[in-house]
Amino acid sequence: MSWARKLSKPYRIASSHNFRLRDFDPGSTGHFRSKQHAEELLGKGVAEMAELQDKLYAQDRWGVLLIFQAMDAAGKDGVIKHVMSGVNPQGVQVYSFKAPSTEELNHDFLWRTSRCLPERGRIGIFNRSYYEEVLVVRVHADLLKNERLPENLGGKKIWPDRFKDICSFERYLSHNGIVIRKFFLHLSQKEQKRRFLKRLETPEKNWKFSAADIRERQYWDDYMSAYEEAIANTSTEHSPWYIVPADNKWYTRLVVAAAVIDALSGLELDYPKVEKEKRQELEATKQELEREK
Ligand code: ATP
Ligand code: MG
Repeated sequence: MSWARKLSKPYRIASSHNFRLRDFDPGSTGHFRSKQHAEELLGKGVAEMAELQDKLYAQDRWGVLLIFQAMDAAGKDGVIKHVMSGVNPQGVQVYSFKAPSTEELNHDFLWRTSRCLPERGRIGIFNRSYYEEVLVVRVHADLLKNERLPENLGGKKIWPDRFKDICSFERYLSHNGIVIRKFFLHLSQKEQKRRFLKRLETPEKNWKFSAADIRERQYWDDYMSAYEEAIANTSTEHSPWYIVPADNKWYTRLVVAAAVIDALSGLELDYPKVEKEKRQELEATKQELEREK
């Protein structure tokens, strides 16, 4: 088993079987005792990923979609920045999904994200996603009202219906060569408090602070049950979730990098082969160039 698979496997959920969020410890650092050792491996991982992405881009067959979901201050931005630090920016497309606009609310719930799906050869990153539609929209019932669904479609059945729709959508994408990996950065409420306090106390971090985030914190348990149900109902072999321990940023980044490397390694990526005719053409051009004075 590759190092990347071995490291990420304990956090991978590929079926609904017995999934419980409380079985996962946000403070875990696996068998890593020190940040230094993890960072060394992350450096190696970033280089490995760059090589795989180069082939993904050249081969131009597969698309990769990475979805990040988390409570505030769990470190989504930092993960995206660090894990993708070595890859060619031309091959990566990042989208952040905030509260929907009027135009977006005029459409079905998968509309706005569908327009941002990665092209073949690219890695697409969703910083939040259509999963918000079974998370924040579930926790705050008034948000669903904004979506103006016909009355008979807006009842309690909407959540199992949305889980099914998400699963069908993700299956459809996988049939089309889009590889999906989903990450829940699993932060403890205690560590979130510590990070919020740091944002308040450090001038350089003040800009990150939002009073709204503190209000959302009061709904912690509701969010955790919404996450648990969403993950249990949308984890599949072709579109697994990873429950990534998020209390130690250095470990979060390493687990995400390992899961992405594992996904890319499974695709048998390679540079396109150059046909005999093309090779002869290259050889002729080379000789011509060499003859130049
Ligand atoms: P950061 O705080 O690091 O800038 P963020 O992803 O938290 O990143 P914010 O602008 O703070 O960005 O928050 C976006 C907000 O939009 C979140 O509270 C999220 O729940 C909300 N949101 C995202 N998608 C939807 C949706 N479909 N319906 C309603 N609210 C949504
Ligand atoms: Mg925020």
